[in-house]
Amino acid sequence: MKVDVRERVAVAMSVRGQLDDGGADMETTIGALAVADELGRVLWRIRYGEISRASGFDRAVSLLVKRLRSQKRSRNQWGWGAAARAPGGDIFVKLGTRVVWEWLGDRCGECHGMIVSGLPDESHPLGERAYCCAHCHGTGRRRYPDAERACALGLSLVTYREHWAPRLLAALALLDSFDGSVETTVRAQLSPVA
Ligand SMILES: [Zn+2]
Repeated sequence: MKVDVRERVAVAMSVRGQLDDGGADMETTIGALAVADELGRVLWRIRYGEISRASGFDRAVSLLVKRLRSQKRSRNQWGWGAAARAPGGDIFVKLGTRVVWEWLGDRCGECHGMIVSGLPDESHPLGERAYCCAHCHGTGRRRYPDAERACALGLSLVTYREHWAPRLLAALALLDSFDGSVETTVRAQLSPVA
């Protein structure tokens, strides 16, 4: 049986604290989540409303910034180098803040992450015609303009595009991978009872 772990965790989190007799299943789900990576865990908890956005956001940003700095030091795999020395404050904090913010608000404003939307059409048997959202190109994700991102990082558009755009996207992908690894961990933890 395929278990939608995201749904299960969301349900467990939303009812925990409201019900006394949640049962072992719920505790198992929460327990499985506790094993996952801390950053991924914090992100999940913010997303599913387990902790307040304000406190969770700060924690997630500080964990991500720590992660970004350690990657820079260790393998230099993201090629931070000279571009990291941007003027006007700590670029890592700005980048981390922006990335977590985008990641949490990543649903396309037009289709609200539904990807497919309905367009009223009287000639259609269902009364509306399904179409793939043009705004997000069917990804369901919100697309932020480079100018807005550059502004958030306190950089010129040219500098942003030249040095930081790939890093911002890489950091977003990093959060996605944490999200995925949390899912994998939770799934593995849940498998004996699923
Ligand atoms: Zn869309």
